[in-house]
Amino acid sequence: MPIDATQPYDDANIFAKILRGDIPAERVYENDFALAFHDIAPQAPVHILVIPRGPYVSWDDFSARASDAEIAGFTRAVGHVAREHVGPGYRLLANTGGHGGQEVPHLHVHIFAGAPLGPMLA
Ligand code: IMP
Repeated sequence: MPIDATQPYDDANIFAKILRGDIPAERVYENDFALAFHDIAPQAPVHILVIPRGPYVSWDDFSARASDAEIAGFTRAVGHVAREHVGPGYRLLANTGGHGGQEVPHLHVHIFAGAPLGPMLA
């Protein structure tokens, strides 16, 4: 069920539980500001999610409230995964809010790769 991305952050969401170590994830990479792990229901041969460690619902929330260090750390984590774990070529996607089809209310970037992906998703 898509979420309302303007809601306050709720740390009961599944990605907050992964960050706390309450539930497992197949971790790919982490730094001080971000964590990358395999999507539990992959939609491409390689499907990795990258999330900030901080409590942000969406990209607009993150870009408004996060520190420069958090933004740099998260962006570098996406780049690291793109360089080291996928290729040749990949697709980044951040579903946001109800119209964007976001289901987990913690900012995440999908990285799809591992095969020709065809035209952009509808
Ligand atoms: P959204 O629609 O952009 O919010 O995507 C949420 C993604 O999280 C989906 O691709 C799910 O398959 C994925 N997901 C949900 N729960 C878990 C989990 O526990 N581990 C890894 N990925 C998950």
